[in-house]
Amino acid sequence: MKINESKHGFVVKKRTEVSELNATMYEMEHIKTHLKLAWLKRDEENKTFGIAFKTLPSDDSGVFHILEHSVLCGSQKYPVKEPFVELMKSSMSTFLNALTFEDKTFYPISSRNNQDFMNLTKVYLDAVFNPLILNKKEIFLQEGWHIEATEKPTYKGVVLNEMKGAFSSPREIMMNALNRALFKDNCYQYVSGGDPESITDLTYEQFIQTYQKYYHPSNAFVFLDGDVPLDDVLELLNQEYLSSMEANLPIEGPIYQQPVQISRQVVDYEIGEEENAENKYRMAWGNVIGSYQDYEKVIAMQVLSDVLCGDNQAVLNKALLEKGLAENVYLAINDGELQNWCQLEVDHIKEENLDQVKEIVFDTLQTLIKKGIDRQQLDATLAYLELNLKERNFGGYPQGIIFGFQVLESWLYGGKPEAHLE
Ligand SMILES: [Zn+2]
Repeated sequence: MKINESKHGFVVKKRTEVSELNATMYEMEHIKTHLKLAWLKRDEENKTFGIAFKTLPSDDSGVFHILEHSVLCGSQKYPVKEPFVELMKSSMSTFLNALTFEDKTFYPISSRNNQDFMNLTKVYLDAVFNPLILNKKEIFLQEGWHIEATEKPTYKGVVLNEMKGAFSSPREIMMNALNRALFKDNCYQYVSGGDPESITDLTYEQFIQTYQKYYHPSNAFVFLDGDVPLDDVLELLNQEYLSSMEANLPIEGPIYQQPVQISRQVVDYEIGEEENAENKYRMAWGNVIGSYQDYEKVIAMQVLSDVLCGDNQAVLNKALLEKGLAENVYLAINDGELQNWCQLEVDHIKEENLDQVKEIVFDTLQTLIKKGIDRQQLDATLAYLELNLKERNFGGYPQGIIFGFQVLESWLYGGKPEAHLE
């Protein structure tokens, strides 16, 4: 297709060669509703379809997580209780899932078979645009939360239970605390999955209003990868859904967080009754690295993460573990959002050693800043990382699914869809 060529209500806006992948990226837009579509056309028989919505939390209620679960509980054309589970059983799909991120919700599928690919695409489109949740409050109660009136009334709900599990992990609690501190003025301060304390504040009315605002074509990003039957996909989108819908105002944001004042916080977490509390202290530091466009910086931080704490011989690990001051040191790079950030964490510290651990961390880093990092070690890490990136080994995930994540990690913020693919 050529630039400005239109088909089934869509127009081609841009065409870019992605030479490393032997592919062409087509950016299209649905003229009436402004739904955006990016197709990575390449010779790949495993075909991927995914629809994403920009979902920016404004509280810890986990509303987008509950929506993600709920829309897959039946739709107008596929009213069976769990189309998802039924599909899993019968489909030849290589991938089928739904994921709630900090700022988006993504529904991707992958299949080698054309018919199967189209069937799954149909089910997913009907799920997001015509879900039964609009008339069936039971779905919200089941997936979100409700009170079970047994002898002792208790809160129940699929997402509520899931998040109770997540909130029992100290790592999760630490990460949430850092997010709140680093991004205190934008949507990244909130737990997109939902804080069990806040999930039960969400009402059905708020849930439906949120659905209506965010699950709209004007806020949708469709990603296609591989040798897909494009004509069929565009026709399906336009005829069954978009042609009868109107455009909405775009959802603005997310907005950049301005630098915050350095602060120190103490957060509690629970341990088991039998566990010894003595060395259960954890310390972490969080820093924003840059924006989604600073891709090189993220790669540099990954190299640094390996050099500083990649294994027990790495410089930070060695400094702390040899003295028996901690059991685990890691530097996590949290990328894929508007602003990337890193988290340096030291685990299993005794209370009386907290100050010493902090001193050693900062002394070690200061020494490295002054004396530099061993060149050979950096070269080795870079070579290994390069090999990994070129191999594109995604641990069992179809390439198209990972490409979908990578495309959204730039496209959602107004960047080029192909920016992170090469
Ligand atoms: Zn979930």
